[in-house]
Amino acid sequence: MVDSVLGTPIEEWTQEFPLLNDLMECKETTWFNTKLKPTSEALPDVGLTAKDIDGAADRLKRFAPLIKELFPATKVTEGIIESPLVAVPDQKDALGERYQQRIPGQLWAKLDSELPISGSIKARGGIYEVLKHAEDLAVEAGLLTYEDDYRKLATPEMKKFFGQYKIAVGSTGNLGLSIGIMSAALGFDASVHMSADARQWKKDKLRANGVHVFEYEDDYSVAVAAGRKESESDPNAYFVDDENSPTLFLGYAVAARRLAGQLKAYDVRVDEDNPLFVYLPCGVGGSPGGVAFGLKTVFGDNVHCIFPEPTHCPSMFVGVYTGKHNEVSVNDFGIDNVTAADGLACARPSRFVGKAMEHLLDGFYTIDDDELYRIEANLHDTSHIDIEPSSAAGFVGPWRVLDDMEYRNRLGLDDVKMAHATHIAWITGGSMVPRDEMASYIAKGESLL
Ligand SMILES: *Cc1c(COP(=O)(O)O)cnc(C)c1O
Repeated sequence: MVDSVLGTPIEEWTQEFPLLNDLMECKETTWFNTKLKPTSEALPDVGLTAKDIDGAADRLKRFAPLIKELFPATKVTEGIIESPLVAVPDQKDALGERYQQRIPGQLWAKLDSELPISGSIKARGGIYEVLKHAEDLAVEAGLLTYEDDYRKLATPEMKKFFGQYKIAVGSTGNLGLSIGIMSAALGFDASVHMSADARQWKKDKLRANGVHVFEYEDDYSVAVAAGRKESESDPNAYFVDDENSPTLFLGYAVAARRLAGQLKAYDVRVDEDNPLFVYLPCGVGGSPGGVAFGLKTVFGDNVHCIFPEPTHCPSMFVGVYTGKHNEVSVNDFGIDNVTAADGLACARPSRFVGKAMEHLLDGFYTIDDDELYRIEANLHDTSHIDIEPSSAAGFVGPWRVLDDMEYRNRLGLDDVKMAHATHIAWITGGSMVPRDEMASYIAKGESLL
């Protein structure tokens, strides 16, 4: 049992923040953010702007011809790394039956599980940060201008140039995969520091790409600290700081305007009478935070961003709910951070995302590991979409929203609006999971159904 956190007795914490009782017992919990503000008021607090997202989108466009050449899977999108948006009405019906409540409105899935190159949402931010660093180095050395054809970066001379530089990162798996693969493709000397959660196949894949993989018996924060330390002493080393990177954040944010285009293509309307709910599985907070930031710049108050986390690792939930952000880790509250949702196993949230986004996020909820497996099996059966357990977390979101009348009344989300609502579960990873491992996830889910 925990006696005190940050010098304050636990009884005082639970008195001020009663949901901590359930969170500490790893019970499924939902909190709709009472600190939510109108977008126009809160957006300037983020410290980044829509213009910064424009800059990131432009950079990805400059790199597209090179990406297309290096990764043939991106040929069909002309080197733009993007994922499908699909409706999943059968999954909606199946879950409606399981939860004994049909949800009005539509349910869609954004399949970042299918993103080319690394098969997870990290193919957005992680790859973007490597590209930005490569561009910065090449421009500074006088080897590249912004008007050049970026395919010149794939020449043997440029590979040799990048080979003088190191890139390091700490990760639970997917970020390492994205950074490692992209860094190696450009010729960088890449190191990935993997936490105990990281799956063996991700380490094998990186080693096969010539990336140095360091393994730790410890959690994500320790792996990140090791990467940071490795880079500190070396002026030619660059550390991708997942706990504190505005660059990663902007890479993720670009997703929002692409999603807006997809919604438009399917004539899915988003306005005051047609609210959009987006459920973004959250680890350290960078990827869901970045996407949510982008969404708020596009849809303003008409989009509602909600972050699910595993019951055994509600780090950003605790950080935003208590206002203590990265000052507290879930371990401080006796929560063990042991979860099948390896992509979400970050005990301490980002240093900047919670603070930047605390007035723009509609809420947080936690979900049990067994339920992740069940949803994963459901999705396999109903929609033939295979994902990793972390990615299943978004699917229960619509039911949490529907049940919370305090939140709905506060935001004016009446039955008419909910009937016109669009819900998007962001599927954050999965297509590269080896077949036998995927089969065991699904079998486990089936056995629990
Ligand atoms: C990393 C990851 C997330 C969450 O991203 P954070 O930036 O850590 O919050 C969600 N799902 C999967 C599959 C991931 O790999």
